[in-house]
Amino acid sequence: MLQGSCVSRGIAIGQAKVIKKALRKASHEEKQNIDGAAEAKKAKAAFSEAAGEIEALIKLAADKKADDVKHIMEAHKAILEDPVLIEMVLSRIQKDALSAPAAIAASFDSFISMLLEIDDPVFQQRVFDLKDLQDRLLAILNGGEGRQELTGSLILVADEISPSALISFDNRKVLALVTELDGATSHVAVIANSLGIPTIMGIPNIHNKVNEGDLVIVDAINNKVLIKPDEGLQKEYAQKREDYQKYLQGLEKDKNIAACTLCGARQIEIHANIAFQKETASVIDQGGEGVGLLRSEFLFMDREDWPAEEEQFDFYKAVLSDLAPLPVTVRTLDVGGDKDIPYINIPKEENPFLGLRAIRISLKYEAQFKIQLRALLRASHFGNLRIMFPMIAALEELLQAKRVFDLAKQELRAEGLAYDPDIKVGIMVETPAAAILSDVLAKYVDFFSIGTNDLMQYTLAADRNNNSVKYLRDYFEPSILRLIDLVVRSAAKSGIPVGMCGEMASDKIAASLLVGLGLDELSMSPRKISELKKAVTQCRFNECVALSQKALQLETAEQVANLLGR
Ligand code: PEP
Ligand code: MG
Repeated sequence: MLQGSCVSRGIAIGQAKVIKKALRKASHEEKQNIDGAAEAKKAKAAFSEAAGEIEALIKLAADKKADDVKHIMEAHKAILEDPVLIEMVLSRIQKDALSAPAAIAASFDSFISMLLEIDDPVFQQRVFDLKDLQDRLLAILNGGEGRQELTGSLILVADEISPSALISFDNRKVLALVTELDGATSHVAVIANSLGIPTIMGIPNIHNKVNEGDLVIVDAINNKVLIKPDEGLQKEYAQKREDYQKYLQGLEKDKNIAACTLCGARQIEIHANIAFQKETASVIDQGGEGVGLLRSEFLFMDREDWPAEEEQFDFYKAVLSDLAPLPVTVRTLDVGGDKDIPYINIPKEENPFLGLRAIRISLKYEAQFKIQLRALLRASHFGNLRIMFPMIAALEELLQAKRVFDLAKQELRAEGLAYDPDIKVGIMVETPAAAILSDVLAKYVDFFSIGTNDLMQYTLAADRNNNSVKYLRDYFEPSILRLIDLVVRSAAKSGIPVGMCGEMASDKIAASLLVGLGLDELSMSPRKISELKKAVTQCRFNECVALSQKALQLETAEQVANLLGR
């Protein structure tokens, strides 16, 4: 039995298809007597064939309503259309007398090594994208050799697999995926989740442990891969798979229920976290009762300059209108940290997560902050808007942000532009300072939303992207639970609601604890909504309160996890 990390849940039994390593290395041979013009023609033809394939994949993803996948493929298309890249390849052919495949391999490799030098997860993801495109182009030039075809339904076993290779398989035929490559936050994981393919990543040498055609069981719920199971195990897992299917069908029925505890003593609102307008359909489809976190920064990323007020207005208006009358909580710009925006020109920082990030950037670039607030105010007319400021660490920051908000309102009034006068304004509680000062902050806002992703990072002093300190990032750490409890009590004293929009909110194991601690709203990826609703409906409020009080007395994350049955 082998173990890795489950990144997409489910159970599958089937024959293995072992995916061979890409062709990258094989293509570095140089040819001295090449026909430069003919090789350049071949390279251009490969680029345009790849572009055609990617177009088809974008369409396929749109048909399957796999927005994440579509987004990734659109990024691939943009890289492919970058004139610098093709110029680089053509110049390698002409100046270095390389064949088309060798020029492509070399050009992509130098791009990739440049990116690898930058210690930033966003660039690391670009490396995957570039490798993926490199494989695609080389496979085209090799006449299709190295492309994987699937006949029948199979379990993919690979050292690593590219995002586009994964989606180019007919996903009805991919029963499960197991890889050596680890990457719970990689694009492959995002796609596997989006397509509902049970996936376990991070099993060392898995591609050499399984042979083509071996019968394999993938239990991506309990994190187990069984190779050549006997008949007894096959039967046992066939039953487990059926039970899991029934469980999922049950959830489908639950997606539109209210998340009331069993005794009806408490109702929790279940909201969605989104970043793009195209996600509004899935909020409704999955039974979301609103948006608890709209990460507005995606509108500001991947571009050369600040988005103008009009463009922002159109975006907010579209999201609000799609979801009206449901509440939509828009978080103002949260960049800096690991989300760099080149046009802001933030000076290089030793500790970017402790530097100019989120509200600190908005307050430094006040004119731009006011533009965002004006656009939001104008859009408020079209739905039920709530505004939330990220990373507040001191009351002055909140007061300054509210002052800019008032200025934006004054301007609009002077210009005779309408807005909703009753917009609720809240903050993310994601720094220990905000949690500790929550009794004071609560007097100045209409709601709190706890961001456990950053609250963990800042409380435990463990960079959220640094795997060496991953062991510390556990939201069951008693220090985190105590801060959550403190925030909820401060909110209750001031009579304001408190939600949670960090990853902890989507963990069904944590649901009873969060209900017991007194959270009013949980916000998560739309796909998790029905599962959480179901988890809440199975809670008895009194028992949850007793459980949370017990959890608050514990000393380690492990003890809390054991109490909750993780
Ligand atoms: C959080 O910090 O918990 C959060 C929801 O915000 P983000 O993950 O975008 O920083
Ligand atoms: Mg955060």
